[in-house]
Amino acid sequence: MIGVGDMVLLEPLTEDSFLENLKKRFDHNEIYTYIGSVVISLNPYRSLPIYTPDKVEEYRNRNFYELSPHIYALADEAYRSLRDQDKDQCILITGESGAGKTEASKLVMSYVAAVCGKGQEVNKVKEQLLQSNPVLEAFGNAKTVRNDNSSRFGKYMDIEFDFKGDPLGGVISNYLLEKSRVVKQPRGERNFHIFYQLLSGAPDDTLKKLKLERDFSKYNYLSLDSATVSGLDDAANFRTVRNAMQIVGFMEDEMQSVLELVAAVLKLGNIEFKPESRCNGMDESRIKDKNDLKEMCELLGTEQSVLERAFSYRTVEAKMEKVSTTLNVAQAQAKTRHKVMGVLDIYGFEIFEDNSFEQFIINYCNEKLQQIFIELTLREEQEEYIREGIEWTNIEYFNNAVICDLIENNQNGILAMLDEECLRPGTVTDETFLDKLNTICADHQHFESRLSKNSKFLNDHSLPHNCFRIQHYAGKVLYRVEGFVDKNNDLLYRDLSQAMYKANHSLIKQLFPEGNPAKVNLKRPPTAGFQFKASVGTLMSNLQSKNPNYIRCIKPNDKKASHVFNGSLVCHQARYLGLMENVRVRRAGYAFRQAYEPCLERYKMLCKNTWPHWKGRARQGVEVLMTDLQVPAEEFSYCRSKIFIRNPRTLFFLEEKRKQC
Ligand code: ADP
Ligand code: MG
Repeated sequence: MIGVGDMVLLEPLTEDSFLENLKKRFDHNEIYTYIGSVVISLNPYRSLPIYTPDKVEEYRNRNFYELSPHIYALADEAYRSLRDQDKDQCILITGESGAGKTEASKLVMSYVAAVCGKGQEVNKVKEQLLQSNPVLEAFGNAKTVRNDNSSRFGKYMDIEFDFKGDPLGGVISNYLLEKSRVVKQPRGERNFHIFYQLLSGAPDDTLKKLKLERDFSKYNYLSLDSATVSGLDDAANFRTVRNAMQIVGFMEDEMQSVLELVAAVLKLGNIEFKPESRCNGMDESRIKDKNDLKEMCELLGTEQSVLERAFSYRTVEAKMEKVSTTLNVAQAQAKTRHKVMGVLDIYGFEIFEDNSFEQFIINYCNEKLQQIFIELTLREEQEEYIREGIEWTNIEYFNNAVICDLIENNQNGILAMLDEECLRPGTVTDETFLDKLNTICADHQHFESRLSKNSKFLNDHSLPHNCFRIQHYAGKVLYRVEGFVDKNNDLLYRDLSQAMYKANHSLIKQLFPEGNPAKVNLKRPPTAGFQFKASVGTLMSNLQSKNPNYIRCIKPNDKKASHVFNGSLVCHQARYLGLMENVRVRRAGYAFRQAYEPCLERYKMLCKNTWPHWKGRARQGVEVLMTDLQVPAEEFSYCRSKIFIRNPRTLFFLEEKRKQC
């Protein structure tokens, strides 16, 4: 074992020793390290030979602590306890962008697919589950500065199993797709992969049908400076995606509809508007060159005049809404209760130079996940102590409930105030929203703004006028209020949704149900913030009903480089992920615990009375073993099903003895 495989056994436990241990292991290609049952994963930024079918076999049906730390061990444990103990599981994968979350979620899924049942039907379901990834990534991932394949949406997938543990299907929920990317990408970043894949990889006749040209530079929405990414084969990926769509269950004509939609978005981006003065003195927007509009209408089966009218009457700048859908590959909805394994791969905490509404929402989600982490790890620990009859000792940790409250409180939380402002009659601007925050949140200990009553910040010139700052559990983030009101309103003018609904194109119709004139709803649609808060709420209660398994992903450097371990970067992530607290909680009272059978199995070689076979009950065998080794009695607690070991040194002692054997 390189370094210490489980941080719980680290001696002495300091931040330095913690980081040193991570680094030592990382330098020896050991990217996984445990904190009890939590897996810390460091992104190696190169492919390691540790995901082979042989490795799968090695970890299959083995006890968690028996082999060196691996994501497969966590997947195996989760799957077995789902199958054998009928406990629904969730796998929570957190970490910042580029830390390896999506790769981890795919590793878990492929491991589970490899070890669960076989047979024609089951294999088909497995293929569908696995192939949903390339489809989702084509439409939801993009190259960013941090990650060449960055997920721009959160994903939660419930995989359903029958009583035997064979997969039946899955339900995928998407969260907050970064739709603004369609229209505009930051410098050095790209639009969603699918646009480039389509133009690079589609055969000539497909492109012709879609009225597209291969050349990226023909399209305003495809930024030029970073259109090709080294190591990314868009053309080959297009074929992968088409194939994956087929496996997932798209029919040929449905696939065609999707591509038509993609093509129409590219055309839409090329439509330019010019102001035209009217006799009443008002400016009206007019479309400059109508060819793109014409082709777009042909693709979507809309009447040009209808769309033109809708564009010109309300909007100056066209915005395309993309609706996130639920991809449902569930095979059977039988009455029997299914076992469920949920895999959550959601955007990590984001601190950029320029943070807007999106970051605010994403970071809110991460606060909630941290809450779940605190609640579940502590609760689980506490429950285990009670189950085993041990007294629980309290441990100090930072509870971020106060920050969640600042954001989500129904009366005076930031989201509620934003909604209130969006709904208020009169002139509403981002500045009036900020004024409101200033009066209401000024005294909150996690809120700062230049104008806040809180005098200690009045002279803080690092805090611009149009910004507020939140002290998140993971660090301070400065948010610029520009766009908050607009993005929260998230309104598509009714003229536009009605024009789209009129399209003679089944997919487009489905995407704009609100445009159905028969269902004109004068009620204002819920705001983006409100919707997100509600879906986060649903997600949290879903997660809380399951047994959690944690993968905490860490980015070793921000250059996407292999072999580089940036200590301060890792330290920062370890801090805000609360990893040290996590270790302390695990060590409170008893550092280590193990069920009697595997404990006896592992150490029976150390005592002639238990070697090679112990005839009696495992618990007695363990007692004989410990007595024989003369370990002081106060070091142990023989509990109901497990032995609890107080001090990590005792475990070292046992491990050392084993090595000498
Ligand atoms: P996140 O989802 O956290 O933003 P990704 O999972 O997309 O990050 O990982 C970013 C990149 O890092 C991947 O495209 C891949 O190149 C690399 N990577 C991540 N995890 C691993 C791994 N376990 N082995 C090898 N490379 C990895
Ligand atoms: Mg990702």
